[in-house]
Parts: sequence; C-alpha cells; structure tokens
Amino acid sequence: PVADPAADAAVRGDDRSHVFHSWSAQALIDPLPVAGGAGATFWDYAGNSYLDFSSQLVNLNLGHQHPDLVAAIQEQAGRLATIQPSMANDTRGELARRISEIAPDGFSKVFFTNGGADANENAVRMARLVTGKRKVLAMYRSYHGNTSTAITLTGDPRRWANEPADASVVHFFGPYAYRSPFHAASPEQETERALAHLEQTIILEGASTIGAIIIESVVGTNGVLIPPPGYLPGVRELCDRYGIVYIADEVMVGFGRLGTWWGFENFDVVPDLITFAKGVNSGYVPLGGVVISDRIAAHFDTVSFPGGLTYSGHPLACAPGIATFEVFRRDGILERVRDLGERVVRPRLEQMAARHPSVGEVRGLGLFWAIELVRDRQSREPLVPFNAAGADAAPMAAFAAACKKAGLWPFTHFNRVHVAPPLIVSEDDLVRGLDIIDRALEVTDAEVAS
Ligand code: PLP
Repeated sequence: PVADPAADAAVRGDDRSHVFHSWSAQALIDPLPVAGGAGATFWDYAGNSYLDFSSQLVNLNLGHQHPDLVAAIQEQAGRLATIQPSMANDTRGELARRISEIAPDGFSKVFFTNGGADANENAVRMARLVTGKRKVLAMYRSYHGNTSTAITLTGDPRRWANEPADASVVHFFGPYAYRSPFHAASPEQETERALAHLEQTIILEGASTIGAIIIESVVGTNGVLIPPPGYLPGVRELCDRYGIVYIADEVMVGFGRLGTWWGFENFDVVPDLITFAKGVNSGYVPLGGVVISDRIAAHFDTVSFPGGLTYSGHPLACAPGIATFEVFRRDGILERVRDLGERVVRPRLEQMAARHPSVGEVRGLGLFWAIELVRDRQSREPLVPFNAAGADAAPMAAFAAACKKAGLWPFTHFNRVHVAPPLIVSEDDLVRGLDIIDRALEVTDAEVAS
C-alpha cells in the first residue's frame, strides 16, 4: 500500500465529525482509516498493512474481497437487488435449503434475520411461544448481541448499562476449567459440577417457568471456552427432562471456525434451535438467522409466527451465502481449518505457553484459540483485571501496539489474546502472525512478577 495523507485526513475527518461508534466514549477513540483489503490482509492510508488475526469481528471467514462472494453479490444486484420477505425468492430459498442440508436431521427450516442479535431474539421468541414459558437461562461470560433480550442474555459487562431490558433472564455459570467456578480438579469433575449447578438453577428458578437455555457452543469473545466432555450432552438431557428449548448460539463458531460446519458437532449434541450470522456470508452483507427443528417449526404450521423484518432473507445477503457453500466445498475449507489448527496453531501456542511466563493457558480448536495471560502462573492472577480499562489495561494495550507495529491486527479482550484469522489464511501468513504474537509476548512477560 502507498501512503495517501490527504485521503487519510479526509476519511478521519468525516469519521471523527459524523460517525457515532459502537461501545465507545466518542472523544476517546481513534478509529483506523482503512483503505482496502484482500484475503487475510487490510491496509490503511499511511502505507501500513495488517495481517488480520481477528477476522474483523470474527466474521470475515473467507477474507476480504473473495472473488466468488463479490461476483455473487454483483450477479444478484444486476438481476434483482431486493424483494420483500413475504414473497418467494430463488436465492433466499436456495440458501435456506443449503443451510438445512448441513444442519442435523430434522432441521428443515430457516428464519433469516439481519444479524446475530436478532437471530437470538427470534429464537427466544420461538422458544417462549412453543413452551408457553418465559424465563431464559444464559451463561455468565457470554455475548449474545446488543438488542434488548440479546443484551440481557449477555453475561459480560456490556449488559450492565442496559439493564433491565428483559426481566425474564437468569444467568448461571458454565464450565471454565482454568478458572473453575466449581473448584473442580479435572474436566470430568468440571462437567459433573457444572451440570449439578445448572440443574439446581433450573429447580430453584422453577422448571415450569423456564422456556429456553441459550449457550454459545464454544464461548467466543468471553474466552474461547471449550466445553469439557459430556457438558453439552448433559445440558441436552436437562432440557429434555425439564421441557426446556436448547438454543445453540453459533453466531461466532458456525460456518467453519472450528473446522466443522457447526460448533456443536464437536461435542456430540443436537440443540433445538441454532442461531447463526457472521460466517454465513463472511459479513459481506448483513445476514443472520435461526435454523429451526421440525418439532418447533411445526408449532407455527397453523399458528402465525409473530415476528418479521423488512430485510429477512435479503437476496444480496443470501447470494454470497450460497457462494460460501461453493467455496467451502471446492477449497476444502473445513479440512484445512482442522489441519492448520492441529498441525500449525496448537503446537506453536503450546510452545509459547512453555516459553513465556505471562502465558497461563492456551486453548482452542480449528482456527479459534485463546492465549490467557497472567501475572503469576501459580496463582493464575490475570495479567489485567476483569473488565480492565484505561491504565489498568495498559499491559494489554502495549501487547496490541507491539503486534500492530509488526503488521498484525490482534484480537484482545480483557487478559486474553485470541487467534482467529480468516479461514483462507495462507500457512505462511499463519506462521508469520504466530511469530509476531510470540515476539509481542515479551512485552507481557515483562509484567510478570519475578
Ligand atoms: N452471538 C455471538 C456468540 C456473537 O459473537 C455475536 C457477535 O459478536 C452475536 C451473537 C451478535 O451478533 P450481531 O453483532 O450480528 O448482532
């Protein structure tokens, strides 16, 4: 990329004057003006390019400007740019069919939304209507979106300023072996105690009041928390026993992030409702949805579903979704994600954990990993406090700055670094990115009490 100071100033000027940004104190941010992107890389107007180890917001699974996705949007735009949701459309219908084909048996129908939050809103709405029960259980350490029920379901600090938006949500602790809320000594014990805690929560909240439990199949932003063996099947069993709908939030891990179409496939479980967004079309045009089990769909055969969106199943969004299926099949994306995850990422991160005193744990699957940073490996004190901001978060900011200086755009959250590059990242770039992280960890090592 070449430096273009005039364009840099113009883009920055309009942005700073007129764009009101998400989750931010407007005067305290300095958004990077981005000039373009290709594959796993994007670049600014100052002549810097960045290898994107965050896949933007963990949505850019097929990378920037994928020719198949761009062509699909162009072709659709030239043919029929939009059509309202109550009409039948070839592109929308084909994508719905393809999604149901990769879903477990007995999931035939898809309700399309604009993104992940409204997918979760509508899944909860379906569960409430089908069960006649209003309460929803969700995990601490989770993110489900920023609309009223979705932000209330969220088990991280983004909920706090939005409360109470939906009084019928109750949070529980999910498994997190490295910082076990149950003082468990093994993954088996973590599963057993986490399930006992969930069952107690169900009993004390009243099974007759609970319509749904929503769980990220692998908790995303809040830590790449891989459920221990048996946990999700145990949740399934509790849902069956107490007449509760199991909603799998697959917004971040669905469509290949773990090397499988769906995250839950790794854990031997089938939910009742599956929500998706992000990876369905790499975010080229906003799209999300709910894949509905036939039992729940049947409820709405003769009873009207009280929900809808002007842009539900927008053809410009569905077209790159269809292309995504083609690319995954042709290029063996799922296989390469599994291969790169196990052959390249896992051993390299384990090496980093052995070498860097600030690394407490590394964990992950496919191209979705977390490096959990600590001040002290013995006590596991996090490198920065929960929800740290400003000066408290300085060690993480210094780590991120070191990565950016070396040409890598990292994903950091609280005391963690996540490794989530586009699924099309070349092996060379993957290794280069891991090299950069390895070197930048010297910055956090310097914080460790000796
Ligand atoms: N659910 C999960 C697991 C997510 O990671 C996100 C977004 O990061 C959402 C839901 C919300 O999706 P959206 O931002 O498209 O509304």
